[in-house]
Amino acid sequence: MHHCTAAVKMTEIGRSAANPSKKSSLTPKAIIHQRFGDKACYKVEEVQDSTQDVCPGLAIPQKGPCLYRCTLHLPEATIVSGTFRRKKDAEQSAAEKAIEKLGICQKEYNPTIQEAWDDLAGRVAFLFANEFLSSPHPLSGHFRAALRRDGDFNGHIPVSVIAVYDAKIGNICKYINPAAEANSLLVMLLVMRAAAKLTDLALISDKQFSLWRRNPYPPEVVSSVMQEPNFASVPIEVIHIPAPLDKTVEPLTLHVNATGYYLDTIARQLGMSEASDVLISRTIGKATSEMRIYSSAPKRNMLDHISEPQVKEASHFEGSLNARASYFTGQEVYGDAILASVGYTWKSTDLFHEAVSLRSYYRMLVNKIPSGAYKISREAILTANLPLAFTTKSNWRGSFPRDTLSTFCRFHHLSEPVFSIQSNLLDPSLDLPGSRKKLKAMQSSKEEKSGSGLAATTGDPVGSIEVFTCEVKIHSKSQELILQCSPQESHRKQTDAMQSASLKVLSWLNIFFENPDMSLEKMNLLAEKLDIHFTPRYFFKEFALCHLMHDFGSNRTLAYSDNANENEPFLIDIGGQNSGVTPSNGSLACISYSISLFREGDCMKEHLESSEEFDFEIGNEAVLPHVEAAVAQMTVGQSANFRVKLPPSEFILAVAANSAETLSLLSSRSCKLEYNVTLLQVTEPLEERMEQALFSPPLSKQRVEFALEHIKESSAASLVDFGCGSGSLLDSLLSYPTSLEKIVGVDISQRALARAAKSLHSKLNRLLDSKESSSKIKSAVLYDGSIMKYDSRLHGFDIGTCLEVIEHMEEQDACLFGDVVLSSFSPRILIVSTPNYEYNVILQGSAPHGQEEDLDERNQAQSCKFRNHDHKFEWTRSQFNEWASGLAARHNYSVEFSGVGGAADVEPGFASQIAIFRRPEDNLKDMELAKNYVPIWEWSRQDVTHQEP
Ligand code: SAH
Ligand code: MG
Repeated sequence: MHHCTAAVKMTEIGRSAANPSKKSSLTPKAIIHQRFGDKACYKVEEVQDSTQDVCPGLAIPQKGPCLYRCTLHLPEATIVSGTFRRKKDAEQSAAEKAIEKLGICQKEYNPTIQEAWDDLAGRVAFLFANEFLSSPHPLSGHFRAALRRDGDFNGHIPVSVIAVYDAKIGNICKYINPAAEANSLLVMLLVMRAAAKLTDLALISDKQFSLWRRNPYPPEVVSSVMQEPNFASVPIEVIHIPAPLDKTVEPLTLHVNATGYYLDTIARQLGMSEASDVLISRTIGKATSEMRIYSSAPKRNMLDHISEPQVKEASHFEGSLNARASYFTGQEVYGDAILASVGYTWKSTDLFHEAVSLRSYYRMLVNKIPSGAYKISREAILTANLPLAFTTKSNWRGSFPRDTLSTFCRFHHLSEPVFSIQSNLLDPSLDLPGSRKKLKAMQSSKEEKSGSGLAATTGDPVGSIEVFTCEVKIHSKSQELILQCSPQESHRKQTDAMQSASLKVLSWLNIFFENPDMSLEKMNLLAEKLDIHFTPRYFFKEFALCHLMHDFGSNRTLAYSDNANENEPFLIDIGGQNSGVTPSNGSLACISYSISLFREGDCMKEHLESSEEFDFEIGNEAVLPHVEAAVAQMTVGQSANFRVKLPPSEFILAVAANSAETLSLLSSRSCKLEYNVTLLQVTEPLEERMEQALFSPPLSKQRVEFALEHIKESSAASLVDFGCGSGSLLDSLLSYPTSLEKIVGVDISQRALARAAKSLHSKLNRLLDSKESSSKIKSAVLYDGSIMKYDSRLHGFDIGTCLEVIEHMEEQDACLFGDVVLSSFSPRILIVSTPNYEYNVILQGSAPHGQEEDLDERNQAQSCKFRNHDHKFEWTRSQFNEWASGLAARHNYSVEFSGVGGAADVEPGFASQIAIFRRPEDNLKDMELAKNYVPIWEWSRQDVTHQEP
């Protein structure tokens, strides 16, 4: 397809957020967004205008103009704006106040190194000033707690808390040394150097990272802030992460004394003497979390005489690298570590703390896998899977690919993904494929009946359409390009283009996470298929620890691989009445399920995960393979029970509410996961929904009527439906009185055939019972086989139908089928229908969604999506004409073009285009016997002598 690229515009999204050095005149909201992204949450409320208060004596308050107030929730604080006439002014005001309050550096701040040093010293002095002790700042809590510390440590402030909890200091340090951004140890070093110049302050000793005031606070300042603690001791649940990988991660309870300092408690737990021995990481996990990793700091004296760039080097640490802790923080952590959610916040003067369970630890781990983040967003860790394709927005469940990708980048401490949208103008009436080499179709004399397909090139253009492609780039925090995904496919909507590109990146990353030991060659191959280009050097730098963390490789199970390779059969026990309603590809299934851990020896069960209502798209790998396999065999209302081998334990522990119980079960080898699934509902695939919603009667009905007309007209006695699917055509034909005596269906889908057999069987028997039935049907047969292969039992029928089938085959197979059917099956009349690709503009313009294209090369320059993701191609009118005309000419048939939905002479033609092939009467040659099909169901009329076909 040729894009008419008359108007190309580039839009970059997310770039400014990724590039802090490019600060122009940003609004306060933009500055807040740069810093907090999605973590900033604005809530606007309507308020009474206080200047026009209720008039005394008046019963009804004067209704003044509406005023708004905005509350801005940030991880570090909540800010309330003044009142404004306009909502957006209220929001900007809240953002402005937040910038002031949090000391966020605005665009004007661009100090020289000397100025930055002065500012740093100034800020440190400010923190130690009398006034700060009572200010509502997360750090002031540490200053107050320091005054309660025991004997020698009384009043000592660990430098680490200054480095970590004061945003302003972090920001100033960046101007002294940009590396300070990701390295709190370096910030600590800079703070100590700045403090050394302040005569009021002193470093405690050359062994400790602590500062204290030479002149104590005046007693009245101290007494005003020192309240009686309202607790004696708080238990805080934390997680202990040992450095050696073979030691298990375990929950622990710390007891923080009312008169003590929580960092001292953590220090002792880590085997150190006091708070300043502890290194505090940045926050990890969710946006609003206070979760941090605590580990041991290197010895002070090792840092004193080294130059700044060397600070990060491992040699200064005594312990070995803690891979698990480092993986979470994106910083190097040495020795044993503690994961805890504790600290002082903007919101309260009391110590904040939150239990960190083993489950939250494993959820954080799972969240770092692209598919894990998606599973968690669906709250279905043991059920959901990252879908293969962004087929339609309406079939997507859980967080959207673009959001999942952002989350992924945040969790891995990468820059926000940068999207570039390219817009192309496309004129659908010009320059369509095939029109260049258009062939004159052989048309029968009575062609004008329902219009000719050749209207294609003479009709009015529909007007040009704007379509979009989207490129995504992922950068490290230091702006190295890690990977880039540039799909060729166009989309009618910008967001679809972004979602689709994001999903490609996620899919590829996910394959890597599940096979971290994959060869570079394989990675490249997979990347190429997904239009991804990556820079191995930067990629492996960022994801170096993955293979230690996510051990899928040795732990592969049924849930994550094809169960066909397993020795053990996959037994599904299905119960309940067969309702006949089964899901097919593209439909939405709604299930309820419950999953438990099951020990075979003593039948011990531990409930893990369940859902009352869980939707997913069939055929898009949106759930784990065994769940999809079970659902594919069920009808609505039925339940299934099955057991599978265990997935990697991180998934199980991420859902286990009772970790201790689960761990003890897991330690015994004979455990399995038991699934109970009930299929509640099935929603038709999009193509059908669209055909039903937009056409009256529905397109499928119109196709049946079209076939009926030709049956009547030709007084056909025998009919074969090629690719009969679940038998909708055969079934519908039975509702009308026709000349048909013998009907046959062929399909390769046994599932569809089983459904067809079921419905035809009951319908035919009902017809037989009803006296007034004028049905002449004597026999009906369903065959399992491919329509590309000839079977002599279907030779020389009066009419052959092949409705909406060829587009489900590869293009060359569709051509092969054409030759086989006309040369060997040789029906008197053959009716072939397939979607008219040009009509998609209308379908997709009115429906709020479209379909994902194939990755196939020939479809890459595609402007509209296909109607169904199972379609291998969709032809324009001229492509269809070319195929049908050539085919007819080769086999001496005539061909006529028609269609249903829309009209021949109105652009863009019919929704479903149809070719009617006719064999000249005397042209039926004899054929050899061939039996390639397997009859899977046969029906014959009991009161008539049965004739073998
Ligand atoms: N004709 C039906 C079904 C259309 S769906 C209707 O109009 O409702 C397409 C069908 O083609 C599917 O059931 C699929 O199994 C079948 N099909 C695809 N390739 C086939 C092949 N090579 N041989 C037989 N059937 C095929
Ligand atoms: Mg189809």
